[in-house]
Amino acid sequence: MVFAGHIGAALIIAYLLNLNPLLTTLGGVLPDLDAVFYFFGKSWVEAHRKVTHSLFLPLTLFMFSINIPYLFPVAVGAIIHFLTDIDQWGIPLFFPFSNKRYTFFKKNNRVEHVGPIDFIKKWFRERGWNFYLEWGLLGLGVYLNWDYLTGLLKLFGLLQ
Ligand SMILES: [Zn+2]
Repeated sequence: MVFAGHIGAALIIAYLLNLNPLLTTLGGVLPDLDAVFYFFGKSWVEAHRKVTHSLFLPLTLFMFSINIPYLFPVAVGAIIHFLTDIDQWGIPLFFPFSNKRYTFFKKNNRVEHVGPIDFIKKWFRERGWNFYLEWGLLGLGVYLNWDYLTGLLKLFGLLQ
């Protein structure tokens, strides 16, 4: 998924679990910050979906959230990011201990699309409607958190 979809999914979960929308969104985009390495000369495959897409990230955040509760929604956001990323390329959940990429289900070395999230993603992808899925998620996320988000804009004087 791209940023719009990740932000949308994080906002929706924040609403459903009554978590801070901003912190959950931060966790929801955090794993993709590895894309920054891409701009420092590494190839996309090398740079993307490595250490920040390993369970290492949310587990560390959950651990520290015992003393720093603000980190809890960030950790939840990271988990949601993984769930929305899982597709035919998979994610290396146990990196750096293993480079194996995990996806929902594999059969005869071919990835079968059986995960509910991936099933939805595939359905949209096949129709060339990826754009609508990503921005639809963002739209729904913003809609659900409308009061919080407009409150935030007012706080910073960006909205009357
Ligand atoms: Zn990602």
